[in-house]
Amino acid sequence: MVENTVNTQNAESHVFEAEVSQILKLMIHSLYSNKEIFLRELISNASDACDKLRFEALSNDALYEGDSELQVRVSVDKEARTLTISDNGIGMSKDEVVNNIGTIARSGTKAFLEQLSGDQQKDSHLIGQFGVGFYSSFIVADQVEVVTRRAGESTATYWASEGTGEYTLADTEREKRGTDVVLHLREDEEEFLDDWRLRSVIKRYSDNISLPVQMLTEIPSDSEEGEEDKAPEKEWQAVNSAKALWTRAKNEISDEEYKEFYKSVAHDWTDPQAWVHTKAEGKYEYTSLFYIPSQKPFDLYDRDATHGIKLYVQRVFIMDDNKDLMPNYLRFVRGLVDSNDLPLNVSRELLQSNRVIDSIRSASVKKVLGLIEGMAKNEPEKFESFWTNFGQVFKEGIVEDFANRERILKICRFASTHKDTPEQSVSVEDYIARMKPGQESIYYITADSFAAAKNSPHLEAFRAKEYEVLLLNDRVDEWVMSHVTEFEGKSFVSVAKGDLELSDDEKADKEKAAEESKDFIERIQNALKDQVEGVRPSTRLTQSPACLVMGEQDMALHMQQLLKQAGHEIPANKPTLELNLDHPLVKRLDGEGDDARFGDLVEVLYGQAVIAEGGQLDDPAGFVKKLNTLLTAA
Ligand code: ADP
Repeated sequence: MVENTVNTQNAESHVFEAEVSQILKLMIHSLYSNKEIFLRELISNASDACDKLRFEALSNDALYEGDSELQVRVSVDKEARTLTISDNGIGMSKDEVVNNIGTIARSGTKAFLEQLSGDQQKDSHLIGQFGVGFYSSFIVADQVEVVTRRAGESTATYWASEGTGEYTLADTEREKRGTDVVLHLREDEEEFLDDWRLRSVIKRYSDNISLPVQMLTEIPSDSEEGEEDKAPEKEWQAVNSAKALWTRAKNEISDEEYKEFYKSVAHDWTDPQAWVHTKAEGKYEYTSLFYIPSQKPFDLYDRDATHGIKLYVQRVFIMDDNKDLMPNYLRFVRGLVDSNDLPLNVSRELLQSNRVIDSIRSASVKKVLGLIEGMAKNEPEKFESFWTNFGQVFKEGIVEDFANRERILKICRFASTHKDTPEQSVSVEDYIARMKPGQESIYYITADSFAAAKNSPHLEAFRAKEYEVLLLNDRVDEWVMSHVTEFEGKSFVSVAKGDLELSDDEKADKEKAAEESKDFIERIQNALKDQVEGVRPSTRLTQSPACLVMGEQDMALHMQQLLKQAGHEIPANKPTLELNLDHPLVKRLDGEGDDARFGDLVEVLYGQAVIAEGGQLDDPAGFVKKLNTLLTAA
């Protein structure tokens, strides 16, 4: 058990969960190349705690306990070799201590461990992103003590650990609300007792914190002769500039400052890809500052993950991760909105149906779309990286944001048969510019892999006619495309569904072929019984013997498969089997007199069409057996 320097009662020892211990070990043994980040993390926690207090106090003024001057203080005791970070924020109850910095691994912990690369520089930057910042104290300390009291509560809690497998928890006292984190510095870490060194680190990391971070500072004395021995007077002075960056005029903010600010709001260490800073002064007055990150957050595909927009009202922080300010498909955007029209005591419930918020949101979406369009037009490399990182999520906007559908669709990029590579670089406008004379529709195919899309038998006739087809294989594509009907008067048509657009000659040929092969088709239909909706001669195949075609409103076969696997009940939409009557295999089938062998051949033809479609056979072993029998006979 840790020997404590604070007056405590009922001390008990607890053991950390394995993942927490793992993090601690890592902090101690592997992340010492960028030690000073612990200070950034602890000050950021202290500042968050003050923000939380301010928010809770909006509806319960008593929480201020008579002191509403919020600040963070950093102090050292050279003799005891301790560095203390104190705040008068919300503090923590005993349960909160256990949940937040005690026994239990938090959700980001595992994700953090999974992302580790072994590169110290990189790994130490990950700390802030995954919510394991507190433990970075152990990079420089061999013992950490926390004394904290939640605003409005009477007992305080003492927590201490040496960063090994366990920690001490006890009741204690703290006159004022808030938290002290006391670091007992390791040998060789004296630099963090140095006033000048601390100031420079604090300035670097905390200039964007809108709260004063103070240190005791000597004030020049106008001492009389003979009073030199008197200890110089000191007072708490802010080390950071504590000015909210977004309130300054745009032309006074340098790119460097924008980038630094991004790093502090987004807990990201890489530079942002782009940003847009707006002061709106129309019907509503507000300032917004939005950033597009240059890399994916770890929880991008989790639709419930936290969003990155902070809400301020008249420069007072109200809440993190506001979901009402940015739609889901722009959940990768980071930044803030500072409104002058909302009441300070605004609640989450109130925000959900609020005219001011709705108006800010719709203007904000337009700003972000404009920012992305600007990249697409002027900075193709940046745009490409944006699309690689966020394209899949952005596409959800086609479904989610009806009002901006056309604009979103214009930004989207796809792979297509034009290049036949998986790279998503074709816009709908590029496609339209390349449409063949007489071509009415925009053709696409969805499949569960790029290879399956590219090699699908459905493309054969389109390739022969040199019609371009968009090749879609992201998970969201089938769902997204089911919501897209047209773009600038051109309809979107899946090449795997419905009928093909035919010239009059082609139509006549098709009818003739159908007439001539009526008996043959019927024989196949009988052999397949109710596995298919129908059988018909194909105009879309030039190389493959057969393919399956879904009705226009039906779900693609590979999607049906996916949903079935996920346990969904889906309507049984039967495909139509299309045959390439010119294919040697089909011709051979036509002449087959033996009914049993005819049946086997038909099954094999049907089976391969299912497989080519990304579907699964009901009886794979039976299929293989039939195939082998036929191969042997051949
Ligand atoms: P993060 O701050 O990213 O959530 P940390 O490991 O740094 O992750 O902190 C874990 C949690 O502990 C915080 O989310 C917060 O709830 C709590 N906490 C940490 N420091 C303080 C503090 N000074 N005052 C109040 N709560 C704190």
